[in-house]
Amino acid sequence: MSATAIDLTPVPTSPVGEIAPLVARLRKTFNSGKTKPLEWRRAQLEALIRFAKENSDALVAALQADMGKPELEARAADVGQITIEAKLALKNLKKWTRPRGAGTIPLMGKSFVIPEPLGVVLIIAPWNYPVGLLLSPLVGAIAAGNAAVLKPSEITAHTSAVLAELLPKYLDTDAIALVEGGVPETSALLEQRFDHIMYTGNGSVAKVVMEAATKHLTPVTLELGGKSPCIVDRTADIPVTARRIAWGKFMNAGQTCIAPDYVLVDESIEDELILELKKSVEEFYGGETRNNADYTRIVNERHHQRISNLMAGEEVAFGGETREEDCHIEPTVLRNVSPDSPIMGSEIFGPVLPVLRINGVDEAIEFVNRGEKPLALYLFSTDANAEQRVLEQTSSGGACINGTIMHIGNSKMPFGGVGPSGMGAYHGQHSFETFSHRKSVLRRGFKFDVKMMYPPYTEWRTKMAKKMF
Ligand code: NAD
Repeated sequence: MSATAIDLTPVPTSPVGEIAPLVARLRKTFNSGKTKPLEWRRAQLEALIRFAKENSDALVAALQADMGKPELEARAADVGQITIEAKLALKNLKKWTRPRGAGTIPLMGKSFVIPEPLGVVLIIAPWNYPVGLLLSPLVGAIAAGNAAVLKPSEITAHTSAVLAELLPKYLDTDAIALVEGGVPETSALLEQRFDHIMYTGNGSVAKVVMEAATKHLTPVTLELGGKSPCIVDRTADIPVTARRIAWGKFMNAGQTCIAPDYVLVDESIEDELILELKKSVEEFYGGETRNNADYTRIVNERHHQRISNLMAGEEVAFGGETREEDCHIEPTVLRNVSPDSPIMGSEIFGPVLPVLRINGVDEAIEFVNRGEKPLALYLFSTDANAEQRVLEQTSSGGACINGTIMHIGNSKMPFGGVGPSGMGAYHGQHSFETFSHRKSVLRRGFKFDVKMMYPPYTEWRTKMAKKMF
C-alpha cells in the first residue's frame, strides 16, 4: 500500500458560515420522519459497509500518509470497526428497535418501553483511530434513527479529506453530514443545538464540549483517556505477559486510549519482565523501528516533543531513541521511575513504558487508587484471589485479565470510561441505546376504573390508602 503524502497544509476546513444552515437542514430532515423507518436505517448501514469495502485501500493510504499506520493495524483496528459494528446492528436492528414489555400492576393496563431516536446528534472524533472512532458511533446513531453531523480530527488531515470526499457518495446527505476543520469549526458546531453529543478525545476539550452542551441541556457521551495501569504479579507467565503488554503498548506507537500506560511489577520478577519485554520488541520489529512498516510514527511534532519531554532524565532500560525529523520514537521501557516524575503525571499516549516496582498486589491496588479512575486496567496473574481483590477494590472503565486491549473487541460489552476517563458507553447494542431515548408508555383500558383514587377523598378512601401505603 503506498501512502499518498499530498501536502494538506492548511488543513481542509468547512466554511464556518455554512454550519448553522447545515444543522438546520438536518433537523428539517429529522423532523420530516425520514430517518425513522427501519428501511432507511438498513439502507444507510448497508451503504456504510459498502463504503468501507470499496474504499478501504484509500482509507489505509490516508492513514499511512497521516501517521504511517501499518496496513494490518489500519484495517483490523480502525477501518474494520465500521463493518463489524454495522453488520451487528443490521443483524439485530429489529430486536433492538422492538418495544419492550415491562411488568404492570394488575388492572392498571399494559406497560412497555419504546426506543425512539433523539434527533440530530454530533459525533466528534480524535486522530488516533480517526476512521473507526468517527464511524463506529455513527452506526449506533443511524441504527437508532438519528440524523448526524460528523467531525473528524483535523490532525489526521488526509483521512479527514478522504472521508469528506467519499462518505457523501454513499450516505443520505439530507441526514448525515461531515464538517471538516479544527477549533473554529468545532466551536461553531458546538454553538448549535444538538440532541446528543458524543466526543472522543482528551479531558480538557471534553470540558469545553460539556460546557457548550449545558447551554441547550444536551446530553453528552465522553470517551476520554487516562493512565491505564498494568499490574503483573509473581504468578504470571512472564514471556506471555511481556508479549501481550508489548503488543498493547507499541501498537499504533502507544497512541491508543487503552494502551497500558505504565507497569506495576512485583519486585521479584522485574528484571525478567524487562528482559522479556525487550525480547518481544525484537521479535515484533527485528530491532529496527524507524523504517519499519509495522511500526507507527508519532502523529506530529507537537506530540513528539511532548513525549520526548516526558522521557527526559528517566533511566532507559531499552529503546529511548527519538528523531524529530521523522516523528519517530523507539519502543522504550523505563525503569526506576519515581511515582512523582512528570511521566507519571499525565497520560503518556506514546511508545514509552515506565516500569515501577511493587511488593504484592495490594500495594498495586493502593497505587492505582491514589490516581484517577483509568479507562482500562490490566492484571497479569493466575491467582484467583488477587484477581478478585483487584476487580473489587479498583474502579476503571474496563479491565482485562492476562491480556491488553482485547476487551474492547467484544461489542457485546459496553465500552466507556468512569470518572475522568469518560461518561457513557457504546459499541453494539450499547451504541444503539446511547443514541436512543427509552420512552415509557402505559396503555390503559376503559373497563376497570378504580374510583377510590379520585376525589372526594372520603375518610374511607384515606383509610384504605393508609392501609395500602
Ligand atoms: P484531537 O486533538 O484530534 O481532538 C479531538 C477532537 O476535538 C478533534 O475533532 C478536534 O478538532 C476537537 N477539538 C480539539 N480542540 C478543541 C477545542 N478547543 N474546542 C472544540 N473542539 C476541539 O484528539 P486528542 O484529544 O489529542 O485525542 C487523544 C485523547 O483521546 C487521549 O487522551 C486518548 O486517551 C483519548 N481517546 C479516547 C478514546 C476512547 O474511546 N475513550 C479513544 C481514542 C482517544
